[in-house]
Amino acid sequence: MNADVIIVGAGPTGLLLAGDLAGAGVRVRVIERRTGESPLSRAFAVHARTLEMLDMRGLADQALATGTTVPGLLIWDHVTIGMTELPGRHPYMLITPQYEIERLLLKRALDNGAELLSGHEVTGLEQDGGGVNVHVRALDGDARTLRASYVVGADGRHSAVREAARIDFPGRAVAQSVMLADVKLAERPERLLSVNGVREGFVFIAPFGGGWYRIIGRNHGNGDLPDDVPVDFEELKWLTRKCYGTDFGMHDPRWMSRFHSEERQAANYRMGRVFIVGDAAHVHAPAGGQGMNTGLQDAANLSWKLVAAVRGWARPGLLDTYESERHPVGRTVLRTSGLLTRLALLRSPVLRTLRNQVSGVAMQVKPLRRAVALNMLSGIAVRYAAPDNAHRWVGMRVPDLALEGKEPSRLYEALRGGRFVLSTRVKPPEGWDDRVLHVVPDKVDTQSMLVRPDGYLAWAGDQADHGDLARVLTEWCGPAS
Ligand SMILES: Cc1cc2nc3c(=O)[nH]c(=O)nc-3n(C[C@H](O)[C@H](O)[C@H](O)COP(=O)(O)OP(=O)(O)OC[C@H]3O[C@@H](n4cnc5c(N)ncnc54)[C@H](O)[C@@H]3O)c2cc1C
Repeated sequence: MNADVIIVGAGPTGLLLAGDLAGAGVRVRVIERRTGESPLSRAFAVHARTLEMLDMRGLADQALATGTTVPGLLIWDHVTIGMTELPGRHPYMLITPQYEIERLLLKRALDNGAELLSGHEVTGLEQDGGGVNVHVRALDGDARTLRASYVVGADGRHSAVREAARIDFPGRAVAQSVMLADVKLAERPERLLSVNGVREGFVFIAPFGGGWYRIIGRNHGNGDLPDDVPVDFEELKWLTRKCYGTDFGMHDPRWMSRFHSEERQAANYRMGRVFIVGDAAHVHAPAGGQGMNTGLQDAANLSWKLVAAVRGWARPGLLDTYESERHPVGRTVLRTSGLLTRLALLRSPVLRTLRNQVSGVAMQVKPLRRAVALNMLSGIAVRYAAPDNAHRWVGMRVPDLALEGKEPSRLYEALRGGRFVLSTRVKPPEGWDDRVLHVVPDKVDTQSMLVRPDGYLAWAGDQADHGDLARVLTEWCGPAS
């Protein structure tokens, strides 16, 4: 074996996974075609649940320092979808270029001991009962085969891993010829992200900080131009005036590009010893800013399960729960981004008026407003299925509970070691310290809880005693050592 796990692709998803695995002592190799930083500037919105996950890795403050936070999204020029009512420490969106998040994750992965093989691409693989052979070609043409117990395809929308594992990727195109530009604005628009769709097309504006703004727009009158047709800056200014009545004094574009969006989801996320995560598993329009966020959460869901499998304490079926938990989340994300995209693309004046009115009324209603922010965008409401007889909170995100003592003083700090966290006032059974960190909740009446390394609830109980806890720990974390 050349590694316990080979990860193909050093985008955000692969890097988060690599950092988690290496941090847990798993031998991990990342194979990346690029030799330097990605020249593409794609994602810019980091949602609340992703910030919580970065916090669980000690990276949230550093991520926040790279960008600017915005309290919500302004749609159709008059309706606000606010994030300020979200629970937790991050009731906002962080706007920062994707490469900033990648830099943080790359540093963490390397610091934790992951090995990066850049300038190499994966051309194919085959698996057997004991492992996976991965065919790798260097840029100079040198070819070799590496072997690992597991392989994860984090290699983006055209995933070679997905193809080699023969996983279907059904779907279709949703928006062609979408223009992208990073520009300076002379007039400052709202402090929110904003999107407006009119007869001529739509324009989306996001403040990056440092005076830079990301503009995304589509001119319906231009038909479906291929991605390699250069963007006309004057056209983007004209379209912005149509959508907002002003082009905000747009100038100095530092980067312009054209892309098309597809909506696709892999039929399976696992094929034997091969897994796919991030864009390799799902792609959709950028509306709602969820692609990178969803990929990072795929990685967080899979990493501790792979650690358990490599270490030999995974319960039967644990690896299958990666697909059963994350596939439905991916499906919901495709629906949400698809809905937002289609609403922005509406061309009929009647439907646009209806859209504007219905959205305006809906956002006046607190439960609806919260549901959109919680369920459709932030990732905070993601919940995994639990067995019928489980406590009603099992599968839910556990909030950042205060703990007794100074370090760790809260749950998300306790999760930084990558272990399960057992929060209880009962004396914990011995033999699980390598996999479980025991903490004492700050509030006396809090239930005993076992929190998974990805911050979701594994188990909760009122009257847990020593025997209960030993049974629960054995079920989730394997036998005592
Ligand atoms: C305009 C636009 C705006 C967006 N905005 C947002 C946003 O605001 N928020 C958000 O969450 N998401 C957004 N996204 C989506 C986001 O950019 C992607 O979801 C994210 O990059 C996916 O990360 P990944 O690591 O899964 O894949 P990628 O970032 O695609 O990384 C895959 C890596 O694999 C490497 N690779 C590919 N094939 C091979 C191979 N055969 N061998 C070796 N290496 C290989 C590639 O070089 C690449 O580095 C946006 C996308 C676009 C286009």
